Amino acid sequence: MHAFTFVRASDPRSAIAAHATDRGVAFIAGGTDLVGLIKDRVTRPGRLIDINTLPAMDAIDARSDGSLHIGALARMSDVAAHPAVRRRTPVVVESLLLAASGQLRNMASIGGNIVQRTRCAYFRDGDGLPCNKRTPGSGCSALHGLNRSHAIFGWSESCVATHPSDLAVALTALDAAVHVRGLRGDRMIAFSEFHRLPGDTPEKDNVLERGDLIVGIEVPARAEARASHYLKVRDRQSYEFALVSTAAAVAIDGRTIQSVRLAMGGVAHRPWRLAAAEAALRGLSLDDRAGLRAAIATSFTNAQPLARNAFKVELAQRCALRALQTAGERA
Ligand SMILES: Cc1cc2nc3c(=O)[nH]c(=O)nc-3n(C[C@H](O)[C@H](O)[C@H](O)COP(=O)(O)OP(=O)(O)OC[C@H]3O[C@@H](n4cnc5c(N)ncnc54)[C@H](O)[C@@H]3O)c2cc1C
Ligand code: SF4
Repeated sequence: MHAFTFVRASDPRSAIAAHATDRGVAFIAGGTDLVGLIKDRVTRPGRLIDINTLPAMDAIDARSDGSLHIGALARMSDVAAHPAVRRRTPVVVESLLLAASGQLRNMASIGGNIVQRTRCAYFRDGDGLPCNKRTPGSGCSALHGLNRSHAIFGWSESCVATHPSDLAVALTALDAAVHVRGLRGDRMIAFSEFHRLPGDTPEKDNVLERGDLIVGIEVPARAEARASHYLKVRDRQSYEFALVSTAAAVAIDGRTIQSVRLAMGGVAHRPWRLAAAEAALRGLSLDDRAGLRAAIATSFTNAQPLARNAFKVELAQRCALRALQTAGERA
């Protein structure tokens, strides 16, 4: 049994200062990831600061310019049910509703969702087995082990894990940004810069520093966002993480693609943007299936599957194509 103290945050400034100066402090929001990690002995914080008491951090603000601000303490279910979020960004709503379970979504916060840790079984359950993310320098059991659900892009010899958040994939496609408050004040971090590739420091999932508190998410108004879709492929149809997933958003003229955003989950240590495919898709007809497929393939020339997950290379391309076509039907 791991003992810790539990305090309620009285204000952001003192919560941030406490987190910055004591490595044993962890923020807790819904607790749906953190408590599991404590039970699995992945992390052993000495003090939990409950941030649910911080004011105004659960607000969802639909601005008149079409952008959205989603407070870090807004619950997944509340965001998914919000009328403006549903109207402006179907891809965000679908990514939320395809995640976890109804009860979890009622508890789980948006801030906690985007910093949840990988579901690699060696990391979660592999007490004693080498895992560089859990115990830096110990090795990676998945590299030559059970790696069916692991990365095909951007991995290193140190770690081949994938990022688990569905929402983060949707927000990456929409060029959202994370609003962070730290010791030196407020800053915005683009989603594309927020999560890290493992390199030789896989213990770091993202660019947050000690003392950083996620205040909310900024989702800009984008022409593509209304015609958007999140497609998640998984081993069972509910209550399961993605094998691969795609967030697609598209603006069309007639049937011709004007601009498109594609991001994938389940393929890398961070949400993976298909930048080459986005460029190649511009100007193609949504009815040109072979052309769409060839354009998507341009983002897979550097895929590096592991021993047990080569199937993901084909599956991911099919997933991207289907997500794009469904988004296109909504335009
Ligand atoms: C069985 C199960 C199935 C799941 N399936 C899915 C799924 O399919 N797809 C999916 O995307 N997710 C899934 N999840 C993950 C779930 O969405 C996350 O656990 C949840 O979103 C985390 O939010 P929380 O508020 O509970 O975070 P907590 O557990 O409270 O915190 C998680 C981490 O975030 C930090 N944190 C929280 N808020 C802040 C903040 N404002 N600023 C800085 N740091 C903060 C905490 O310190 C902690 O490190 C699943 C979880 C479970 C248990
Ligand atoms: S893939 Fe990453 S999380 Fe999984 S065992 Fe290897 S180092 Fe650990």
